[in-house]
Amino acid sequence: MSNQGEFSTRRGSIDQRERCSICSGALLAAIELPALPLTDTFCLTPVQEAFKQPELFRSAAALSIVDQRLLYCQACGHGQLQNLIAPEQLYGSHYCFRSSASATARKGTDFFMAVLDEVASDRRFRCALDLGCNDLYLLGRLASRAELRVGIDPVWGGREDERADKSILLFGKNVDAVDLNALPEKPDLIVCRHTLEHLVEPRQVVESLMNSAADDALFIFEVPGFDGLLERLRFDQVFHQHAQYFTLASFLRLLDGVGGRYLLHRYNYHDWGAMAVVFARGKTAAQPEARRWLPAEIQSRYRLFQAQMRLSKEALDLHTDGIVYGYGAAQMLPVLGYHLGTDFGELVAVLDDDPAKDGLGYWNLPVKVMHSSHVGDLAQSTVLITAVDNVQGIMQKLLSQRPRHIIYPLSII
Ligand SMILES: [Zn+2]
Repeated sequence: MSNQGEFSTRRGSIDQRERCSICSGALLAAIELPALPLTDTFCLTPVQEAFKQPELFRSAAALSIVDQRLLYCQACGHGQLQNLIAPEQLYGSHYCFRSSASATARKGTDFFMAVLDEVASDRRFRCALDLGCNDLYLLGRLASRAELRVGIDPVWGGREDERADKSILLFGKNVDAVDLNALPEKPDLIVCRHTLEHLVEPRQVVESLMNSAADDALFIFEVPGFDGLLERLRFDQVFHQHAQYFTLASFLRLLDGVGGRYLLHRYNYHDWGAMAVVFARGKTAAQPEARRWLPAEIQSRYRLFQAQMRLSKEALDLHTDGIVYGYGAAQMLPVLGYHLGTDFGELVAVLDDDPAKDGLGYWNLPVKVMHSSHVGDLAQSTVLITAVDNVQGIMQKLLSQRPRHIIYPLSII
């Protein structure tokens, strides 16, 4: 455990953080993640050829790893990454596959809508603003709830006209490049799903949204919960793209700092341990109980997770003389491999039910993706579940096909 106060320099395209993004408190190093690989590294078939040339593979792999460290603020209970890679490197030129909203994401939106209904079932909004509106699915679900709908997301940069629903006002930019005070109507519903954790300065963003919202605005923000991650030993969910790891305690501290009044929170454990928090302007009268984790607790849970990964890899190794498939071509696969201690080179392929992924590879893993219809009988095979967040659907499918062995690398479902 060391104080990270000395790190505040910008080194190349990596920005090193020294103070807590939420309360400006000092940060402790909670977990070391040396040479953590990048995720979202799908690539097209020809790149697989590179893996036949070890030199080329090693240099590609070397480009895709960055030393990482998870920091923790004891003052407010917030987790954050030390090394923030520039967005153009994280989401940039190597990107060749963007998944459409998955079944999990759609179910996650059901959860979000249920939270909205719980606090405002009868309310109709003048203007709903979605920060990080992605494929506009959530704004679509809000069509009957708001007169005007506004979406902000840099993924739409330069192709705003391609949106199917022209009644949505769309800004393909970062939120700080949008003049929120110039909107035709002050937003009275501000929603944000799985976006805040990507931002370097989440507090400033929430503050500016609060300042440009209507007086009676309702805010519903959903983030992957750090409490849920720790409870479920999901350290494979710590990766370069998530800069912020909110606990309920740190979210409440954030509200306190920006003049937000806490109204309600709900957890969705089966979608990234998600936590939705509802708030308005004003001061919180009574805050709910929020667990504060000790750094030693975080570290002992990480050791437990590592032990689980070791055991799963040892179990997998007992079967690698036969036919072994992975199931589920997750974007997070490089990080799962990192913790398991494998590049998945021992797999015949990673099977996936999405035809759009058939034939893809990962530019930092020597394994190819194959549509599940290409393999017939799995009865003689061992299958490792590689999309751990989709275990339920994959398991249902596998149990009907009944491979010889199914290995699930985690113990909590
Ligand atoms: Zn803090």
